[in-house]
Amino acid sequence: MKRVGVIGGGQLAWMMGSAAQKLGVELIVQTPSSQDPAVAIAHNTILAAVDDAEATKKLAANSDVITFENEFVDLEALSQLANQGVCFRPRLEALAPLLDKYHQRCYLRDLGLPVPQFFAIEQQEDIAAKIADFGFPLVLKSRRHGYDGQGTFIIRDLASLQEKLEFSKDNPTLFLVEEFIPFERELAVIAARSVDGEIVIYPVVETQQEQQVCRRVIAPANITSEQVATAEAIAHKLLDSLQFVGVFAIELFLTTDGKVLVNEIAPRTHNSGHFSLDACATSQFEQQLRAVCGMPLGDPSLQGATAIMVNLLGYETSQSDYQSQRQQLAAIPQAHVHWYGKTESRPGRKLGHVTVLLENHHPTIAAEIAQTVESIWYSS
Ligand code: ADP
Repeated sequence: MKRVGVIGGGQLAWMMGSAAQKLGVELIVQTPSSQDPAVAIAHNTILAAVDDAEATKKLAANSDVITFENEFVDLEALSQLANQGVCFRPRLEALAPLLDKYHQRCYLRDLGLPVPQFFAIEQQEDIAAKIADFGFPLVLKSRRHGYDGQGTFIIRDLASLQEKLEFSKDNPTLFLVEEFIPFERELAVIAARSVDGEIVIYPVVETQQEQQVCRRVIAPANITSEQVATAEAIAHKLLDSLQFVGVFAIELFLTTDGKVLVNEIAPRTHNSGHFSLDACATSQFEQQLRAVCGMPLGDPSLQGATAIMVNLLGYETSQSDYQSQRQQLAAIPQAHVHWYGKTESRPGRKLGHVTVLLENHHPTIAAEIAQTVESIWYSS
């Protein structure tokens, strides 16, 4: 399989570019705008929204296999294509339980995986009674289309909850409520499963979020070997039960008493795996292509002692390409700057990332490096 159709053309698809070249794979991208990052590396582009199944039909006509960098697709419409023989990897049945956060939580719970307590809002009236067990703060999440903290709200009291629901009075069933986990740290793990069912797992990382958006990733996480084993067992269980083919990300909470809970899963490459581009023998992007093309999987191990990845988030509305800041970042020893080539910066938008490799494992140095990167980036 040499022609891979990718639904979505953002930075995750863009970062597949060099792996595609290395493996001799052609990428055909379905994405709404010619300005989207992956258009620059695609062999061919179909300009259409990711949930435009007619466009995916065209994509299929030009591809041997179709994969996803964005899962906000129209599964029902795509299943007709699958019935006509179009090859999706991961298969659509593996995506179906994941796209709605409530269904995803139910799936995880039914598999026996540890998750926060949760319920879906069905009727506004009984909300006060239902949250009695949870107390405040609690977490309100949009069931669909949430990403980068969009659609995730930490709610501190009943009045704020009611206010939030008031906005969506016509359709309160769009929300999921969950208990707030006063986590000690957040972790993530990227895993991949091949067509033959082989599984490889990347080092478990620590992720640091601010305002629900990922700011930094430290690989590997400084956790016990039992906690690593728990995260790996969760990955195995999920990938096998979904018969998943491709790369898969699992976001986890490490609680103050050392337990690991699953927060969220993403059926694709993920921000928490960007460090693998510079720090691992096989990046998550190469792994994705290997898995969906039916090739043997590559070595996911970390090559140095530690990698620290810092996101470059937009902090203003601008068309600047931030040349001078990028140059300063590139001058940090062992730094690799990845700039996604977006034509417009907006607050919170992911514009690029920097990964710095360290020979030694030293938490304070990692924190200092993150600070250096952020003070250069957010200086103006
Ligand atoms: P998204 O899909 O937008 O990334 P997440 O569900 O991953 O949304 O939530 C984003 C962030 O919000 C998490 O990384 C975490 O920091 C915080 N968060 C989410 N759920 C909870 C929870 N139940 N308890 C505490 N914090 C949470």
